Amino acid sequence: MVAAPDLVFVRSSRARNYRLTLRRNGVAVATIPARGTEREAQRFVAEQHAWLTRARARQAKKPRSAEVWSLGTTVLWRGLMTEIRGTNTSAKPVVSLAADTFRVATLERDLRPTLEAHFARRARLELPGRTWELAAETGVEVKQVAVRNQRSRWGSCSASGTISLNWRLMQAPATVRDYIILHELMHLREMNHSARFWARVEEVCPWWRDAEQWLKRNGSLLGL
Ligand SMILES: [Zn+2]
Repeated sequence: MVAAPDLVFVRSSRARNYRLTLRRNGVAVATIPARGTEREAQRFVAEQHAWLTRARARQAKKPRSAEVWSLGTTVLWRGLMTEIRGTNTSAKPVVSLAADTFRVATLERDLRPTLEAHFARRARLELPGRTWELAAETGVEVKQVAVRNQRSRWGSCSASGTISLNWRLMQAPATVRDYIILHELMHLREMNHSARFWARVEEVCPWWRDAEQWLKRNGSLLGL
């Protein structure tokens, strides 16, 4: 389980200056321009500290509402910030995110609830298969794989051999998704976060540090 950060750094090839915005979900987003550096961005954020404190205080007074998704909104999908595109030519409108297409009732309203339901369905189609595959590769015995809507964790497992995965993993890169699955698989061998556990993770998933880093930076974009 990884806690969501309240500040993320996002690189933009279009941005000309450093920018700090506060999202409705309470996450501050620091934009790094094309030639900028994360160090500079951190300095910029430090300078904006008073502004951010005021903005957070203002936000705390307002009721919280989720960000609205419409055509043109960029959302995290399979690890990449992807623009929501739509076509209305067929009998039913279709929304596409890179190579994936999803049917929607209308393009006019907030697309988030419909798309998130599609993401969860896609997760139930893809995540269990991948888990069985990795279980076979690592020789771990799994009894059941469940895909859930968990607000606070990416994955979990029970001593009886059930692995539960968060459908939001569909928004993460394949390497991160695999890391979470392997992490839970290794828990079936070692039900703790001891050095022995991490040695097992290292063995089957040498890129686990990069994956953890990605989760730390992007976790909040997944809505956790
Ligand atoms: Zn763990």
